[in-house]
Amino acid sequence: MTQEKINLLNFDRAGLEAFFAELGEKRFRATQVMKWIYQFGVDNFEEMSNLGKSLREKLAEQAAINVPEIVTEQHSADGTSKWLLRLDSGNCVETVFIPEADRGTLCVSSQIGCALECSFCSTAQQGFNRNLTTAEIIGQLVVANRAMQVRPRDDRKISNVVMMGMGEPLLNFDNVVRAMNIMMEDNAYGLSKRRVTLSTAGVVPALLRLKEVSDVSLALSLHAPNDELRNELVPLNRKYPIREVLEACKHYISGDNRRRITVEYVMLAGINDSPAHARELVKLLRGLPAKMNLIPFNPFPNSQYRCSDMATIDRFRDILMQAGIVTVTRKTRGDDIDAACGQLAGKVADRTRRQQRKADFIGGRQA
Ligand code: SAH
Repeated sequence: MTQEKINLLNFDRAGLEAFFAELGEKRFRATQVMKWIYQFGVDNFEEMSNLGKSLREKLAEQAAINVPEIVTEQHSADGTSKWLLRLDSGNCVETVFIPEADRGTLCVSSQIGCALECSFCSTAQQGFNRNLTTAEIIGQLVVANRAMQVRPRDDRKISNVVMMGMGEPLLNFDNVVRAMNIMMEDNAYGLSKRRVTLSTAGVVPALLRLKEVSDVSLALSLHAPNDELRNELVPLNRKYPIREVLEACKHYISGDNRRRITVEYVMLAGINDSPAHARELVKLLRGLPAKMNLIPFNPFPNSQYRCSDMATIDRFRDILMQAGIVTVTRKTRGDDIDAACGQLAGKVADRTRRQQRKADFIGGRQA
């Protein structure tokens, strides 16, 4: 039986150095190979001209540079691009590139589907299949970079990454941390910690662990100013209530008083968008260095919510601003290709049988 080749995209620098040490090679081979893969976009060992011939042959025998395969590529009228990537026979995830005047942001997925069941999110409806490997996470940058280079006159570049695609990144801790290490590694993408953002619904123990191993920027999906409402919107709140989550966030940025948490808040008409909610939020966030990001709700098939109207969102924002909280309303991008926040669906072979459970539940209720 032939041994399966090792995909080098699964290693951050430390891992790759260990891999070369095992081969009896010098550690600096790791940084050379990283540059080839991530900076020059090379996907075969033949082209790695600063490695000796015998090492290139050894690598070709034992290792591989495998990235996800692009199934479809869509471009929005506003310049946003979305790729559907095949990861295995039954599953695909989506990755989105959002160009702006001063930056280009890639929105990266961390899991196939999601287990959190937030009621306003399309990914949740797909159910959950599995965690992405490190290679599948960092592979999204490799693939998007390549795809953008082959488009004529395209000089678009990834300057920022947000872990805001499909999945809850803190429930895929090790692979996400390794992939973010590669994003920030000088010999790979060299992004600064301010330009790599992990977004979480608030997995408290993982958040505490994250502080020990990483210093990426943090975004919290809050969406409600009290536990009663948040329990409904983000069921994970029943396990980790708001107070514990905010404490963990405070702890995460402690030690550096320039740091801020980005607090995400999806605007749902008649649910969480009243002036009273805004005032409750002001009280709640007292003492947390935060900036607010109001996200207009993006509808998807069978979604039970509507987006708040603009006047309501503006009024909500004004209350926060008057209380001294920096607040921006996120522009909806890519909605014509279903690439906006909460619309990423991919193709998930659902192991949680979510659709079935839902159908049973509704059927049971009607019976
Ligand atoms: N699981 C992580 C990251 C993925 S979601 C998290 O919860 O943060 C990325 C952001 O999009 C989150 O703030 C999420 O709440 C928001 N979102 C989900 N569905 C949405 C929808 N339909 N409209 C607008 N934003 C949505």
